[in-house]
Amino acid sequence: MNFYLGIDFGTSGARAVVIDDAACIQAEAKYPWASSGVSDWVTAWQTALLTLLTKIPEELRRKIKAIAINGTSSTVLLVDALGKPVDAPLFYNDGRGSSVLEQLRSFAPANHTVLSATSSLAKLLWMSQQPSFAEAQYFLHQADWLAFLLHGQLAISDYHNALKLGYDVEELKYPEWLENLQIPIQLPKVLPPGTPIGELRPEIAANFGLPVDCLVCAGTTDSIAAFLASGAKLPGEAVTSLGSTLVIKLLSRTRIENSQYGIYSHRLGDLWLAGGASNTGGAVLKHFFTDTELESFSRQINASTASDLNYYPLLQPGDRFPINDPHLPPRLTPRPDNPVEFLHGLLESIARIEAQGYKLLQQMQADQLSRVYTAGGGAANETWTAIRQRYLKVPVVSSVNTEAAYGTALLAIQGVEK
Ligand code: ADP
Repeated sequence: MNFYLGIDFGTSGARAVVIDDAACIQAEAKYPWASSGVSDWVTAWQTALLTLLTKIPEELRRKIKAIAINGTSSTVLLVDALGKPVDAPLFYNDGRGSSVLEQLRSFAPANHTVLSATSSLAKLLWMSQQPSFAEAQYFLHQADWLAFLLHGQLAISDYHNALKLGYDVEELKYPEWLENLQIPIQLPKVLPPGTPIGELRPEIAANFGLPVDCLVCAGTTDSIAAFLASGAKLPGEAVTSLGSTLVIKLLSRTRIENSQYGIYSHRLGDLWLAGGASNTGGAVLKHFFTDTELESFSRQINASTASDLNYYPLLQPGDRFPINDPHLPPRLTPRPDNPVEFLHGLLESIARIEAQGYKLLQQMQADQLSRVYTAGGGAANETWTAIRQRYLKVPVVSSVNTEAAYGTALLAIQGVEK
């Protein structure tokens, strides 16, 4: 029996999942981030990575054939010729790139994904104006740097992480407008996620009891890893994430891009993963109900009868997808006295917005929806699943696996098969 290791560097902590040849989970380990006071994040990442390795039972570690790592999308850093970070990393949600957006607009094509304050390219431009840039040799994403610690090769990334850097995932090259920028830094060579990069550094193999020929494969981002974990594979299959917000992703043979609605597509082998995100979702439910109330009130709802209440549940004005209106007002009235009726109206309205989202993707020529997997806190709510099924008119199933680390372990298996 061989084993494969997926490691997820997410927003709340790092996780490792070991699977076998049949993709069954054999071991799991967690490393939560300290709630405050972390001053040196790259050291914290390195400690998390190495600690997770030690948490895997030794008998499994000895037979790990391949490892892949996912990081949070657009968490980036600059390193020197030896791979040592020259400054603190910029995290996925860091908006300091807003100061270079005007500059970015002057050379990037209109409506391009890089035209956002938090894009990797906006971050690189901002970093290039800081004093520490003088020592920098390479620009890397979080997942690239963590994989480097294992395989020792600098300047390698994957096309999921590199999308927001401006890499052309259709032509599989950096576009001319980006090359013309001549930022004095080495951009990573970009590989398909899951491609074997190289064997482990000998000292890592020796120190952690891993095989010397264990392969380290190109990684991915956290949200794509979570999609891969669901098991969705065919055009028309989709994953809805019912977390604080509502995020939908539909596998399609056509690439869908529409910056007006915040829709863009990741490449997934020969297919495209088109996605959109609405500000409605679990955060609104959480504002009105505790988790216990959500469970007990949901059980009292008759899911086969439609609620007459037509809300647009938001905590503040504005949405982008499936309605693009920065001033869209929340619609949460009339509010019935009975909390069960109110919750019914909310669940029904969010389900309607989800269905509208999939309809919009299909109007933009995505493949026809055939099945929806569900992830996130709302996935466990059976009443909601039944309501959603009524609107979506396709089977709504919960994903057996939703962990990003599991999806990344699947990439490691693919790496060995390649
Ligand atoms: P995120 O990681 O996006 O913050 P999670 O996937 O952890 O979110 O899901 C948390 C959300 O799930 C909360 O906003 C909460 O209101 C919602 N939630 C929790 N339990 C239920 C339930 N039984 N039915 C519907 N929503 C729920």
